[in-house]
Amino acid sequence: MNAFDKPLFIGSEIYRTSTYGAWHPLRIPRVSTVIDLSRALGWLPRNQYVISPMAKPKALHIWHQPDYISALQQAERDGDVDDHTRQHFGLGTPSNPVFPEMYRRPATAAGASLLAGELLRYGGVVYSPAGGTHHGLPARANGFCYLNDPVLAILSLRRNGAGKIAYIDIDAHHPDGVELAFQNDPDVLMISVHEQGRWPKTGAISDCGVGNVFNLPVPRGLNDTEMQMILDRLILPLTQGFGPDAIVLQCGADAVEDDPLSNLSLSNQAHWNVVAALRPLSRRYLVLGGGGYNPWSVGRLWTGVWAVLNQIPVPTRLPDQAESVLRNLQWTGNRRAGDRPEHWYTTLEDRPRSGPVRDIVRQRIDMLLNR
Ligand SMILES: [Zn+2]
Repeated sequence: MNAFDKPLFIGSEIYRTSTYGAWHPLRIPRVSTVIDLSRALGWLPRNQYVISPMAKPKALHIWHQPDYISALQQAERDGDVDDHTRQHFGLGTPSNPVFPEMYRRPATAAGASLLAGELLRYGGVVYSPAGGTHHGLPARANGFCYLNDPVLAILSLRRNGAGKIAYIDIDAHHPDGVELAFQNDPDVLMISVHEQGRWPKTGAISDCGVGNVFNLPVPRGLNDTEMQMILDRLILPLTQGFGPDAIVLQCGADAVEDDPLSNLSLSNQAHWNVVAALRPLSRRYLVLGGGGYNPWSVGRLWTGVWAVLNQIPVPTRLPDQAESVLRNLQWTGNRRAGDRPEHWYTTLEDRPRSGPVRDIVRQRIDMLLNR
């Protein structure tokens, strides 16, 4: 088998038919929007779409503790947890609620990440927007993440021939689970750009692990010009210098201006620039999703990621069929319908959000480069 020519999209209908519950930030549709928009635009032919397998419990034991996986399955079967399970494993909490697919849904995203490592054995590009659950811990649910599919992806890539792996994370939150897994591993480079002071409050600039952990906490209001500098001066040179056999990009959509859970101010073009710039730096490239809690900004951003990976130009105005996908999205409990800007329905691309580069951003980049 040779490296496939075209990028592959791993998806599943389980993300359309399941929800974390009526009040959870993840009640919104995300992956299904990306699938529907991509199909409406004619960007997702059958030969590029792979249905995600669901990981078997045993496959998860390469990083997760067997007793935790059993507890997660048991909670799904029972539809309830006892106090011990809640306290010990973090299941059945407001962040990590009991819901009918609470094992099957994360195990499907984990199955995609494990499969991605196999698909990339001889090179190529894989996109799994359901992935990116970077807070999951070996024996505990954490921050909406029951499993840690990025960790599983990295282990699968390694098992399939990639020795050195670069993990880049541009979600608004720090990937505490991924750092825990690989901070002492000289063959994994980890670069994270995240909002300072935000949950889980890990990811200090001084954390360096065995030398390959680079955490850049950024101030609120981060703009596209600042992100471009971070990309050009930090992300690209460090990744290039590392010489990775594979790159995993966690492309969380919560660092954009329109996201309700964080205070960064990027446009989606900032994310797309990162996606495009990393592509030539390795023969294996896996792009994952992550956070993102505004259904329009997530769907538009992640559909644009798929366009970038396929080198398809994004149209200025969406055709009717794609526009109706966006008009039909529901977001109860948030902004009133009348307050929604028209471009959420008619475009994929945000206007650029450029601005001054603040000293603190420049200084922290220098600190990381000079340590
Ligand atoms: Zn996040």
